[in-house]
Amino acid sequence: MTSRYDAIVIGAGFAGLTAARELSAAGRRVLVLEARDRTGGRTWTERRLGHDLELGGTWVHWTQPFVWAELRRYGIGVVPSPIPLEAWWWNGSETVAGTPDELLDLLDEPNRLLGAESREVFPLPYSPMSSLYADDLDHVHLVERIDQLPLDEQQRTLLRSFWTLNFNGRLDDAALTQALRWLAAANGDWRIMFETCATYKVVGGTRALIEAIAAASPAEILLGRDVVAIDEAGDVAAVTTSGGETFVASDVVVTTPLHALARIRFTPELAPSAERAIEVGQLGLGTKVWFSVEGERPHFVAFGDADWPLNFLQSEYHVDGRTIVIGFGPDSTALDGADVAAVQAAVDRLVPGLRVVETTLHDWVADPHSGETWPMHRVGYLSTGLPALQSGTARIHFAGSDVADGWGGFIDGAIESGMTAARRILDVPAVAAD
Ligand SMILES: Cc1cc2nc3c(=O)[nH]c(=O)nc-3n(C[C@H](O)[C@H](O)[C@H](O)COP(=O)(O)OP(=O)(O)OC[C@H]3O[C@@H](n4cnc5c(N)ncnc54)[C@H](O)[C@@H]3O)c2cc1C
Repeated sequence: MTSRYDAIVIGAGFAGLTAARELSAAGRRVLVLEARDRTGGRTWTERRLGHDLELGGTWVHWTQPFVWAELRRYGIGVVPSPIPLEAWWWNGSETVAGTPDELLDLLDEPNRLLGAESREVFPLPYSPMSSLYADDLDHVHLVERIDQLPLDEQQRTLLRSFWTLNFNGRLDDAALTQALRWLAAANGDWRIMFETCATYKVVGGTRALIEAIAAASPAEILLGRDVVAIDEAGDVAAVTTSGGETFVASDVVVTTPLHALARIRFTPELAPSAERAIEVGQLGLGTKVWFSVEGERPHFVAFGDADWPLNFLQSEYHVDGRTIVIGFGPDSTALDGADVAAVQAAVDRLVPGLRVVETTLHDWVADPHSGETWPMHRVGYLSTGLPALQSGTARIHFAGSDVADGWGGFIDGAIESGMTAARRILDVPAVAAD
């Protein structure tokens, strides 16, 4: 059976549902095809360990204009994560205890040195391709720049771990431009950038916002539809699912993460730079593990070595005599987050005296519908892969936080890209482009 729509949106995460809402508000007949049995994509609010937890994307901030506008539009507030009272960090030879302020002070000079050029390189953070320097800098590895900075061993160890946390991946191939884009988006202030990444949560969870966006749209949403092929011919594109259904539309918005794009056959083939970007993929291949420990402990934060299975811990909730903690690590294959003993061993390296009771997570990297956590770019992506994907084809428009201009990698970037894709399809003329 073949059904004809004005637009088909692939993926019901923030990018897809935003694009669907914008297109249907303009009177277009829109179909959303989602492979999973739920909406939300890489955000997923679920009751686990006795509390509603975010298994994926969590924190938002007013420096992020797209998500902030959506929260205001639907009257959804934010709530802060607890202020930590204790801190631990690996100084290059041992784990030391101190205060969270001491830890932030140690990170201050290294991050200020690293970020000094961010606004010069990206004077307009939401127009990264307009940068005069980005092409030249896009072949520079972040670790090269970290190694060039005049830092002592403790500062360098912490800076590497801090950026390993931000990339949620091993830094070997990480692009300096990606770090500078995050810093520029926070106006060059690393403390605001850090606050943006890990402080304010959505009241009711990200689920509240995704449901509000979905409810505001008359677009038809079909769950459990795994798209395997998109064939573009003339003025239409045909979208085929693994179940053999075919849907036809004038325009297709593809919001799947870069790694999930590899599972879709495009005819004709995409531009070589786009194919190459899909083949190489993103660097965010790490883990986010939730676990509970015995006792309601004072809230804490901890940085380990960049190479440890968990290199960052942050406690979030007290529930029934336990403390619920989030751990991030750079390599999803280095830790079985479902194994209490393995998590205990990883945690012992960062904070003494915690007794892990239970753990939970979603393995986003093993999940074929994501294949990555949050998209962090390798060298060369900004100057080649990103423009190729943003250009799309006559009928296919790529969206999603992997191809965002501003806060790429965040919920904000996903929403921004959904707006951009809809605007492109609706052919809204630019009033004054930069
Ligand atoms: C562990 C983790 C922590 C994060 N923390 C934060 C944070 O604190 N703050 C923040 O702002 N961001 C965070 N992020 C990033 C943020 O969640 C994402 O950038 C954002 O949700 C991506 O939205 P999207 O719509 O671009 O993509 P997705 O949410 O991935 O949506 C794409 C959709 O496409 C579907 N799909 C894939 N393949 C197919 C197919 N073949 N056919 C049909 N459908 C398909 C997927 O199932 C998915 O629903 C985090 C992400 C993770 C994983």
